[in-house]
Amino acid sequence: MKRIAFIGLGRMGGPMAANLVKAGYDVAGFDLIPDARANAAKDGIKIAASAQHAAEGVDVTITMLPTGKHVIALLTGLVLTMKKGSLLIECSTIDVDSARAAHALASEAGLISVDAPVSGGTKGAAEGTLTFMCGANDGALALAEPVLAKMGQKIIPCGGWGAGQAAKICNNMILGVNMIVVAEAFVLAEKLGLSHRAMFDVVSTSSGASRVLTSACPVPGIVPTSAANNGFKPGFTAALMSKDMQLSQAAAASAGAVTPVAARAASLYADYVAAGNDAEDFSGIINFIRR
Ligand code: NAD
Repeated sequence: MKRIAFIGLGRMGGPMAANLVKAGYDVAGFDLIPDARANAAKDGIKIAASAQHAAEGVDVTITMLPTGKHVIALLTGLVLTMKKGSLLIECSTIDVDSARAAHALASEAGLISVDAPVSGGTKGAAEGTLTFMCGANDGALALAEPVLAKMGQKIIPCGGWGAGQAAKICNNMILGVNMIVVAEAFVLAEKLGLSHRAMFDVVSTSSGASRVLTSACPVPGIVPTSAANNGFKPGFTAALMSKDMQLSQAAAASAGAVTPVAARAASLYADYVAAGNDAEDFSGIINFIRR
C-alpha cells in the first residue's frame, strides 16, 4: 500500500486526505492549526509532529496550502528531506511563478512533481468529485493519476509546469466576476420588487444561468448548498477569492492581457476583504454590494 503525506489539512485538504484514507492509503498529515489536525485525526489521518515527519520516506507528498508564499516556504526545506524519486503533488491555488519555482525545487531535489490545483469547492473535496487541472513534464501526470482519481472525478492535463495553475487562475477569474454580477442582479431585483424565488426560478432556467447561481446562490433559502443559508460561513473564503482575483490581475499584467471587468471585480473583492470580511464566504459580497 502506498504511503502518502498530506500537508495542509484545512477546509479542502482535510476532506481530500480523508478520501485517500477511505481509498485504503496510509496517510500521514500535518497542519499548523490544532483544530485542523484534530478533525483530520478523526478521519483516520495519522497526525505527524511536523511536515518533515509526515513526508519522511513516503511515495507521494501532497500540499494544499493558502498561497504561493506558504508553498515555497514549506517546500524549500521539505524537498530536501523527501525520498528521491518520490512524487510531489501541489494542489494549492497559487501564482504561476511560484508553481514553477516549486517544480524547480522538487526537480533539483530529485523529485517528480505535478501542479494540480482543484475546482469543485469544499463539497467536491468531501464527495471526491473535484476537477484537477494539471501541469507536469515528462509523464509525471501518469504517476499522479491513480492518487488524484481517489479525490476527484476529472483529471485534465493542461500542459507543462505551471499550466494547471494558469488554467485555475482563468477559471477563478470567471467565478469571481460571475458571483459579483449574480449578487448585483439579486440586489437590483430586490429594488425592483421581485422575490428571490421568482428571480432564481427565471434565471436558473434562462440564459443568465450559471453554476454560481445554481450551487452558490448568494441569498438564503433557495439552493441547499449555498453559504447564504448558513450566515455566509465558508465554503470558499473572501480572502481566498480576493487572492485569486489578484493572481488573475498579476498574470494578466505579466502576459499583456487586458481584463477590465476582472480588474474592477478584483478591486471590489479587495475592498470587501479590507472592510473586515476576509473570513466569510465570498458570496457574502452581496451584503457589501447592498450597503
Ligand atoms: P484553509 O485555510 O482552510 O486551509 C489551508 C491550511 O493550510 C490551513 O489549515 C493552514 O493552517 C495550513 N497551512 C499553512 N501553512 C502550513 C504549513 N507550513 N504547514 C502545514 N499547514 C499549513 O484553505 P482551503 O480553503 O483549504 O484552501 C486551500 C487552497 O485550496 C487554497 O490555495 C485555495 O485557494 C484553494 N482552493 C480552495 C477552495 C475552497 O472552496 N475552499 C476551492 C478550490 C481551491
